[in-house]
Amino acid sequence: MYLIPIPAFADNYLWLLHDGQRALVVDPGDAEPVLQALKQHALQLTSILVTHHHADHTGGVDALREATGATVYGPATERIPEPFTPLHGRDTVNVLDLDFEVLDVPGHTAGHIAFYTPDMNGKPLLFCGDTLFSGGCGRLFEGTPAQMLASLDKLAALPGDTLVCCTHEYTLGNLRFAMAVEPGNADLVAYQAHCTRLREAGQPTLPTSIAQERSINPFLRTRQATIIAAARRIDAAAHDETSVFAAIRQWKNQFK
Ligand code: ZN
Ligand code: FE
Repeated sequence: MYLIPIPAFADNYLWLLHDGQRALVVDPGDAEPVLQALKQHALQLTSILVTHHHADHTGGVDALREATGATVYGPATERIPEPFTPLHGRDTVNVLDLDFEVLDVPGHTAGHIAFYTPDMNGKPLLFCGDTLFSGGCGRLFEGTPAQMLASLDKLAALPGDTLVCCTHEYTLGNLRFAMAVEPGNADLVAYQAHCTRLREAGQPTLPTSIAQERSINPFLRTRQATIIAAARRIDAAAHDETSVFAAIRQWKNQFK
């Protein structure tokens, strides 16, 4: 299997997974770059996986369905361009002979889902939409801090070597914030240097891994003493994991 991040808009990646003949695409906000990639690699698009309803994740769905006849899968409770196969948490979808488990991950949007398969070329693979980013997480447009924290906990509990395909290249900005929260984290310092080199070379910083994110992402580290202490500088009343998470998320919203 081959995994390709197709850049779109300012900082989106439309993930294409293919076996040399058949392909799936995740969250195609734009059809044109996907059609180009299909042509370039001589692929048949069989499936479109959608994680949530935002336009930068769904804008190309109709054109791609029309051009290729691909089947569209999306969250049952969100408005996705019809017709699509509605999915709920714990459903399984077989695409390209891979079984993807559907995970409910509300927070960024109310019905946001993620797709997880335990064995793609011998490794677990996750398409997480705008829930988890490298070094960060999605904004809480439709969910509560408690919901988002539970969703991130679910993703953080996946195997450490899980390849994590996030849909935005936000990594360097997120790491600048993470360094403000946790400047003494040596893993974070090393990862920031690594990602800076990748971007200077014009390379994506993604996919990341769950193990990497557990060691550097402040939003997966809200039980760490360093993160709790940092949260209390923003909100002295932050006392449990949800209020610590909420304080860090609030700080990030205002971080320049
Ligand atoms: Zn979004
Ligand atoms: Fe997005």
